[in-house]
Amino acid sequence: MPERYKPAREEALRLKIQQMDRDRAAYGEALLIVRQFLARLSTSKSAGFWPTIGTVLAAKHHWVSILCESCGGVADLDLRMKRRDPEASIRVVLKDDFRCPRCNGHGRPRIVSLSKLPSR
Ligand SMILES: [Zn+2]
Repeated sequence: MPERYKPAREEALRLKIQQMDRDRAAYGEALLIVRQFLARLSTSKSAGFWPTIGTVLAAKHHWVSILCESCGGVADLDLRMKRRDPEASIRVVLKDDFRCPRCNGHGRPRIVSLSKLPSR
């Protein structure tokens, strides 16, 4: 490798390492938010706040488990499958993307979990 390319490679490597550090920090913050949301959701029906789609995707917890309060059916929805506003709360999937197959949308859906893998 000629000597004149060396500084450019070192600069590219330094930028790559900085980006990896930022990605790791964003993942850690997002994971904290998702864990807090899940902890609060496990103790009551409502967590009191909704994480954004961007946060959930950054935390790699993109599987949303939705319970139909009418029939008790649980369905999983993958948030990666459709492009959505990353600033929107995950609650938008209840209104726009979920319809209980048993009740044909007459039941009231509720988000019960977020996870890295589908529940079934
Ligand atoms: Zn249902």
